[in-house]
Amino acid sequence: MPCLLCGGDHLCDILTMPDIEVFVGGYAPGAARPDKLPCRIRQCLDCGHVFQPADPVISKTMDAIYNSVIAQASTATGVGQWGRKRAERMLSLLSPPTPPRSVLEIGSPNAYLLRRFQEQGATRLVGLDPSLPGNEEHEGVQLLKAVFGPDLPLSGPSFDLILACNVFEHIENMHQMLRDCRKWLADEGMLSFCVPNCEQQLVNGDPAVFMHEHWHYFTEHSIRALLARNGFSLWHLEKEADNLYVQAVKSDVVTALPLDFILYDDYRSKLSRCLERFTVAASGGNVLIHGASNSLNNILGWVEPVAGKLFVTDNDPQKYGKRIGGFPIRDKAGIPLTDMDVIVVIPYAYAATIRNEYERSGYKGRIAVLVA
Ligand SMILES: [Zn+2]
Repeated sequence: MPCLLCGGDHLCDILTMPDIEVFVGGYAPGAARPDKLPCRIRQCLDCGHVFQPADPVISKTMDAIYNSVIAQASTATGVGQWGRKRAERMLSLLSPPTPPRSVLEIGSPNAYLLRRFQEQGATRLVGLDPSLPGNEEHEGVQLLKAVFGPDLPLSGPSFDLILACNVFEHIENMHQMLRDCRKWLADEGMLSFCVPNCEQQLVNGDPAVFMHEHWHYFTEHSIRALLARNGFSLWHLEKEADNLYVQAVKSDVVTALPLDFILYDDYRSKLSRCLERFTVAASGGNVLIHGASNSLNNILGWVEPVAGKLFVTDNDPQKYGKRIGGFPIRDKAGIPLTDMDVIVVIPYAYAATIRNEYERSGYKGRIAVLVA
């Protein structure tokens, strides 16, 4: 089970936990509960990359999810307040200095970003997504039900910009992916992408880091190494708490791997302390859990049943009515806060903001955060 980045076999265990349900953004009330699969993350001691070891059962389950409508269950780019905010961030951090004439987007269920590039003057716009119902062409944007690869039904010159937002962490063979990106990019073309920034999560023991869908747990270090090995030179990298925004250009030079990486060998002990904090906080009375994310799915799968009566809510209205770990995800507005003995805030990155919102809303009870 070698390293997915360098092929090395000096590995250390970062996470080994009991099998849990696959997180698909919440499942419908009548639907069967998702399959349970193993939870493993390893770090390569040769290059520092953090990854989920290859597993054919997990690969097969993920392929089925990506080809189904479940793949579109999460908040789409440009849709709703949160989706629009995220799209603006992507555009400001991933647009090339010169507006591109041609754009190919990998993983483009709704073409929102392609339309924005069209407004800026791009005339050739192609989006690919295996979860689309079929191929379609609408007002100059071509959407293909396809997985990105070397053989696509496209004619014409190469693209000025290839865009991939929150896609690469799902791709097991990133070397092949980057070879294919080189093939479809024009000589001066730019590859712009964002992936989850796992650095702080790994340092903090954040349960949110693990997701069956994610083969790679990227950090600035591993992105630099990946690009250098595959003939891309980094043009700009922006680090945010939750995402890395990367712009790279095709280069003929394959450079050496960067050295000196952080070893995340204390992740497991920090995670254990976080799970203990959750168990203590949810030990009695009415417990409101805020954040119906993969982090909560992991926590509910990894801790023993807690003594409190759990109510789950989230800021994303698209999740209301679905279920997570057996619990319905409720509309925040329908939960009487005065009946709650404690509120447990799940996300690490925005814990302080969420706690302040509950305090401002007049809640006088205890609020527990999982961040150490
Ligand atoms: Zn490696």
